Amino acid sequence: MKYIIFQFRNVLLTLLVVISIDVLGQTKPNILILATGGTIAGAAGSGVQSGYTSGQVTIDAMVNAVPDVLKVAKIKGEQISNVGSQDMSFDIMLKIAKRINEMANSNDVDGFVITHGTDTMEETAYFLNLVTKTDKPVVLVGSMRPSTAVSADGPLNLYNAIAVAGDPNAKGRGVVLVMNDWIHSAQSLTKVSTTAVQTFMSPLRGLIGVTSYGVNDFYRYPDQKFGNKSEFSVDGVTKLPRVDIIYADVDMPADLIDASVEHGAKGIVIAGVGNGNMPKAALEACARASKKGVIVVRSTRVATGTVGRNVECNDDELGLVASYNLNPQKSRILLSVALLKPRKLDEMQKIFIDY
Ligand code: GLU
Repeated sequence: MKYIIFQFRNVLLTLLVVISIDVLGQTKPNILILATGGTIAGAAGSGVQSGYTSGQVTIDAMVNAVPDVLKVAKIKGEQISNVGSQDMSFDIMLKIAKRINEMANSNDVDGFVITHGTDTMEETAYFLNLVTKTDKPVVLVGSMRPSTAVSADGPLNLYNAIAVAGDPNAKGRGVVLVMNDWIHSAQSLTKVSTTAVQTFMSPLRGLIGVTSYGVNDFYRYPDQKFGNKSEFSVDGVTKLPRVDIIYADVDMPADLIDASVEHGAKGIVIAGVGNGNMPKAALEACARASKKGVIVVRSTRVATGTVGRNVECNDDELGLVASYNLNPQKSRILLSVALLKPRKLDEMQKIFIDY
């Protein structure tokens, strides 16, 4: 009898273990990692050397460096590319966007993590914010130090990114970037340091939230349009129209603007001085471009502040668009996507206010 009770107890215990593993397993979110390269996947010859090659390490090796992520999420990975983000391209960005849209309604995915170099992360993040159609979290993550460095920042960044992507509270906040414990909106963030681990800031609108060892605290929802509310789509799109950025400074050569038009640009973004200003000759060249149907956006080379309409130049008369919140590189992304459809100047201006 004692033996039967003992066996019965063992069976019950085994059942309990199996049931709890299953229950725990079910509560773990499914995260799809789309890897693109960058320093997070970079390797150097030694732990203290500044030179290194981006995009050397595969997605499996990155996840293996943080085995703890498997306790908080079920991970699947796909290698989309393996480049330093200076070689990020619209081709790769379109691939990522289309893959997210393809998987957005799948029950097998609760959130997306995109590993990416930090140099152009703001462009990809903002592009995805405009053209992916999902409320599920889409999180970009990178690192400033290669995987082989002393105090590599990639593993904890990846752990935090996966924790944000799997958090139901992260839903509906648009595309975000998680690095060094901060959660930024794709709309607000910008890279501010070439080498420091604390390289991303959201100077105008502030953080979406913070995260610490996978415990997240959310502060706000972005108020611009994005995701399901965005009117932009990349369905069937294989190429984006040419948009050039031209940097304004003292005595800038205005013929750069004419050259850009001659080379087929459909849009031009001026990284203006101050409140999107530029010398008179450049303004005249912008007006010439606008008359030819090229959309010209005045943004700013200044790190923070908005560029308003008709402040120090007459945008109405010159036929120009003010970038408001967007820096030159994000203005270029928005303009490239907006130009996929013919639009009038005032419609373009409204887009720059809404997004
Ligand atoms: N150029 C590299 C990249 O963007 C370095 C920047 C980084 O990832 O931190 O991939």
